[in-house]
Amino acid sequence: MAVFDYNRCKTLFSRYQISITEEQFAKFSHFQQMMTEESSRQNVSAVNHPEEIWIRHFLDSAYLSSLIFEKKPHTVLDLGTGGGFPGIPLAILFPELTITLLDSEERKLEYCSRVVKALDLHAKCLCGRAEELSKQARYREQFDMVTSRAVANGSMLCELAIPFLKVGGTFAAFKGSGYDPAVERFAEASAALSANPPVVLDYQLEEVHKHLILIEKDVPTPPQYPRRFAKIKRSPL
Ligand code: SAH
Repeated sequence: MAVFDYNRCKTLFSRYQISITEEQFAKFSHFQQMMTEESSRQNVSAVNHPEEIWIRHFLDSAYLSSLIFEKKPHTVLDLGTGGGFPGIPLAILFPELTITLLDSEERKLEYCSRVVKALDLHAKCLCGRAEELSKQARYREQFDMVTSRAVANGSMLCELAIPFLKVGGTFAAFKGSGYDPAVERFAEASAALSANPPVVLDYQLEEVHKHLILIEKDVPTPPQYPRRFAKIKRSPL
């Protein structure tokens, strides 16, 4: 029996002013089952208990909803999607969005493709390294929003994510309770990339204090970025 019934799901998401249809609830439930099954085969996430999946993955990803309501993007790139976070919950919640799930690991994207197909989501899967794909004209400055959760430190993330954004687009990075601006260097990196200074939204996920870092892009990214991965790692912006 599902731990989360429709009423509980509705109450949970109403925290972020999201109303869930029965069809969306069914998709989340199906996704949760697929995650639990996949975890017994390969480790797609450290969080495996159904209750934890709903809170730490689904509800956490849904925190982006207010930003989606505000910015009304058409195209979203989820950089380093892994097992599909936050991209798959966003595709369930906002079926009108075109979401691209990007990861460099083929086996993770194969799993994401199976979920996209089973749930009939409006999402594409893209396998490759961010710093290589954003050099290609078909991906550079093509997205209204880039999201990332648990992928890299702020400085690296900015260099990987911001080149994908259209001018006028927004980068949204999830950070956990250990967030330290001096270590992450979002401000230094966004300045080097000619993007706007980061704005930090603090939020509470049950007992955990979390942050969403938002960076807007008003001018094109200088063409020398992103640099090669070894350089990005060795000399952070
Ligand atoms: N966003 C997911 C997964 C985080 S794990 C979640 O919150 O659960 C980080 C993922 O980023 C891994 O799957 C890894 O393969 C991917 N990744 C790291 N660096 C990358 C790069 N340069 N380009 C593409 N994907 C990358």
